[in-house]
Amino acid sequence: MALLAVADAQQRIIALTPRLASESVHLRDARHRINAADIIATRALPSFDNSAMDGYAVRASDVPATLPVTAVIAAGAAVTQLPTLAPGTAMQIFTGAPLPPGADAVIIVEDVTRRGDTVVLPAARGGDNVRRCGEDIAVGECAITAGIKLGAGALAMLAAQGCSTVQVARRPRVAIIATGDELVDVDTPLQPGQIVDSSAHMLAAQIREAGGEPHYLGVIADEPTAMTRALQQALSFDVVLTTGGVSAGERDYVRPALAAAGIELEFWKVAMKPGKPFAFGLGTSTLVFALPGNPVSSLVAFELFVRPALLAMQGAATLFRLKVPVRLPTGFEKSAGRAHFLRAHVGCDDRGLVAEVHHKQGSAMLSSIVNWNALVEIPADTTTIVADGIAMAWLTGE
Ligand code: AMP
Ligand code: MG
Repeated sequence: MALLAVADAQQRIIALTPRLASESVHLRDARHRINAADIIATRALPSFDNSAMDGYAVRASDVPATLPVTAVIAAGAAVTQLPTLAPGTAMQIFTGAPLPPGADAVIIVEDVTRRGDTVVLPAARGGDNVRRCGEDIAVGECAITAGIKLGAGALAMLAAQGCSTVQVARRPRVAIIATGDELVDVDTPLQPGQIVDSSAHMLAAQIREAGGEPHYLGVIADEPTAMTRALQQALSFDVVLTTGGVSAGERDYVRPALAAAGIELEFWKVAMKPGKPFAFGLGTSTLVFALPGNPVSSLVAFELFVRPALLAMQGAATLFRLKVPVRLPTGFEKSAGRAHFLRAHVGCDDRGLVAEVHHKQGSAMLSSIVNWNALVEIPADTTTIVADGIAMAWLTGE
């Protein structure tokens, strides 16, 4: 099989990714969930004309003047019981208090002089310091579109609309299967030749960040039957991730096990570094991502392929990270053929965004994925980025 271009692999995966159903969650559990349907405002915001400042409510046409103060209106005053502002009078008013009928402006307290029961007021224009009913959101307007990831501000909007629950996409259930006779759990004392299954913890974190629910199914031995059985048992999940065993070596049993478990292989090997030996397959209703063994390769393949799929399953409007041009002070050289994804830290200097590429880029080394916030993409056909040249970087924010 020829190497597939990264963008083609991404497109094929997204095209084959099903949408999950939605569920209702309480507002306090809704942070970072994907909004399932347009939220149409049933309340105008603000829901009544009110004062934006502490001051005096007036008719703009009455000022400048010294006017008698006939009432005090505080926030929380009942809108239905407000006194009407008579011509040639003023009312003291506080931020958020309903504007009395008849008033069309508020003069801020800093600009007036209070003299007993009267107040000396400067000129004003109609609408000054008044928040009009519905100026933020009118009834019937879309307050939050479907596909938005609910952040803190969207939660405020939901609360203001009186929505204590919200329909969000169900979390994708993602199984993690590690393969390799050398792998043991983090709490198991290491025997000579053994290493910790570190990718399981990394992938669980990546799954959570993408809105999924990780389920660790453990380490499977490098043995075809055990691997086939593990895959078959995992087909009740929405997504299965395997790590390792997917290269071309004699002991790489994942691909034959996929076939034996009835999983259709869509493609194998992508023109990228790290992460070339990546395979994608489909069960009846399960996406199967066979990630390479080296942890950095797994991490990059997850970023590029699994994360967008998990977001697509949830109906997210934005599937991919923001991609921005960055300066590479060190430049970069490679041969043509595969796109490289360099773990880097992007910051800003007086010339704009600049990427500090980690100096240890080996896919078996964990150093480059400890403190990074971007993947710098050197396209497949590019061989040279000169010093201080520009490359594109996916901002991962890790
Ligand atoms: P493989 O593709 O199975 O030959 O694995 C490639 C390399 O990645 C080997 O050095 C493995 O020991 C290592 N590796 C595979 N899976 C994991 C994992 N889950 N955690 C950490 N290292 C792994
Ligand atoms: Mg292995």
